[in-house]
Amino acid sequence: MKDKLLALKEEALAELARVETLQQLQELRVKYLGKKGPLTEILRGMGALSAEERPVIGQIANDVRGAIESGVAGLEERFRREENERRLAAETIDVTLPGRPAPQGAVHPLNKIIEEIEDIFLGMGYTVEEGPEVESDHYNFELLNLPKDHPARDMQDTFYITEETLLRTQTSPVQARTMQRRQGDVPIKIICPGKVYRRDDDDATHSHQFTQIEGLVVDRGIRMSDLKGTLLQFVREIFGPQTQIRLRPSFFPFTEPSAEVDVTCFKCGGHGCRICKHTGWIEILGCGMVHPRVLEMSGYDPKEYTGFAFGMGVERIAMLKYGIDDIRHLYQNDVRFLKQFARS
Ligand SMILES: [Zn+2]
Repeated sequence: MKDKLLALKEEALAELARVETLQQLQELRVKYLGKKGPLTEILRGMGALSAEERPVIGQIANDVRGAIESGVAGLEERFRREENERRLAAETIDVTLPGRPAPQGAVHPLNKIIEEIEDIFLGMGYTVEEGPEVESDHYNFELLNLPKDHPARDMQDTFYITEETLLRTQTSPVQARTMQRRQGDVPIKIICPGKVYRRDDDDATHSHQFTQIEGLVVDRGIRMSDLKGTLLQFVREIFGPQTQIRLRPSFFPFTEPSAEVDVTCFKCGGHGCRICKHTGWIEILGCGMVHPRVLEMSGYDPKEYTGFAFGMGVERIAMLKYGIDDIRHLYQNDVRFLKQFARS
């Protein structure tokens, strides 16, 4: 029996030396140490041994079992370690590789100006309104006192989609839309920023698409002096506290009286320089008292209510403020140009 046990040990260890995978190892463990394995069978036959022989053989059997078990355990551990090393090698990360830079965007200069102007007027109690860019002739022209045969329509070369539908040429239709929606309620204090379109040939100072900000106030007893005070407050916040304004008589079909507004040059303070073409003044917006017909057409009795309106080109202000010499820079999405505004 002793010989049988030792032979079994030899056989098992020899087989163990040929094992190459965890799967084979598992099979070997079952084969030699399992309940139906030869070792169990031998131990089961120990009852037939004499009392002297039993502990001796028992000892040998335990040694054989221990040898096979530790052989299996050692190999198992080696396989697991090798597997682990293989996986680590496959998943190695080179921490010295440079990272992939994530380019950071910046607010577009036009949006910066719009936000700045919105903030100023929100501070004065205005709200921001928006309207459609594809507009009807009715809102874009007729409700602004520009009937079909009006000669002033020639001032704005229009993109017509159909005879009655067009790309709005100004943000003023938002005035009429707001007045109609308020149904006679006062006060109205709004500004409307947005894109507008005119059939212009693009060059350094013209673009077929540009941005306007429109303002409208309607209430009882609104006077020209309210308009002037509002504009003075506005230009001082955006161009600096020393800024002065002057109003020059002008003509717009939707305001009466109408005026162009100049500000003292914020570069030279009014002494004359290249930016103000040596006049000391820079034209920045148009304004006037809302024409009684415009109030009336949108449901406000001009005998009871008065109002003022103003409009300005955002591109012009951005170009003046940032010293941009070509309006097309604002639309070409050249990152080298836009990046300059990232931190200002
Ligand atoms: Zn100047």
